[in-house]
Amino acid sequence: MKIAFIGLGNMGGPMAHNLHKAGHEVRAFDLSQPARDKLAADGVPIAADAKAAVAGAEVVISMLPASQHVEGLFLGAGELLAQLPAGTLIIDCSTIAAATSRKVADAAKAKGVAFIDAPVSGGTGGAIAGTLTFMVGGDAADLERARPVLEKMGANIFHAGSVGAGQTAKICNNMLLGILMAGTSEAIALGVANGLDPKVLSEIMRRSSGGNWALEKYNPFPGVMETAPASKGYAGGFGTDLMLKDLGLAQENAMAVKAATPLGGMARNLYAAHSLAGHGGLDFSSIIKMVQKG
Ligand code: NAD
Repeated sequence: MKIAFIGLGNMGGPMAHNLHKAGHEVRAFDLSQPARDKLAADGVPIAADAKAAVAGAEVVISMLPASQHVEGLFLGAGELLAQLPAGTLIIDCSTIAAATSRKVADAAKAKGVAFIDAPVSGGTGGAIAGTLTFMVGGDAADLERARPVLEKMGANIFHAGSVGAGQTAKICNNMLLGILMAGTSEAIALGVANGLDPKVLSEIMRRSSGGNWALEKYNPFPGVMETAPASKGYAGGFGTDLMLKDLGLAQENAMAVKAATPLGGMARNLYAAHSLAGHGGLDFSSIIKMVQKG
């Protein structure tokens, strides 16, 4: 299949690479030169710009930071949507506001272009291994068209509902993730302040009733888990500012439907303070710095 892939960051880079390795005809683009160079070194063909990437593509995949980037790409100055012939399928894997997904989908539909929102979970490890979870919003027929492509990047594909529903599922998940990473950090910091070895304490909690994804795969304490961003100076991974964006989306949504999300609100403020302290570019597990001694 001819696929245009726009956005080659921590997630999009390995996802595009997996599609290339699976034999799809991928043409990729990112505004950042280092991101383009990294993919080119992996043998993935790079286009001169987004317009060149989508020329002749049957499927266009976007993996961008936030709502304004997705809206800007498809409906903004470049108006990529105007370049796409009827029958093209857009798969937006970015985590953005459900309302933005619906706005882009409506504009696409008016041109005969199909759109699904397909945000992901599983982190950069899942993106590299091709084991992501996709949460899809859109028509069932469009999801079936996308499925052979999604299967090359992920292990679980869920149909959450109509356009925007994938985004709603994603912000519920990430609100929980933000809360549990902050809670896990607090618990480890408390143990360490009492002289416990963070590795031993983490293993005790992992196998006890406090066990969770952070303890299984993404321990926030440096040195406990070799592969986790915490052991690499919190570089790469999932940026604090991206987590802050997702917690903000959850709060906006909660206000719109009058839901009570007290811990989600507290988590948003914690990550906002962490970002203000200059840590917005570090992986979100660096939230442990908020509660660590020294
Ligand atoms: P990132 O910042 O590493 O990468 C985003 C890339 O998009 C950058 O390379 C940037 O140059 C590029 N970009 C921005 N605007 C562009 C445009 N108009 N045209 C071309 N390229 C453009 O972000 P990431 O970690 O890859 O995350 C991408 C999305 O996936 C976000 O919405 C994030 O919330 C979500 N997400 C991230 C993770 C994770 O663990 N990193 C996990 C799940 C979901």
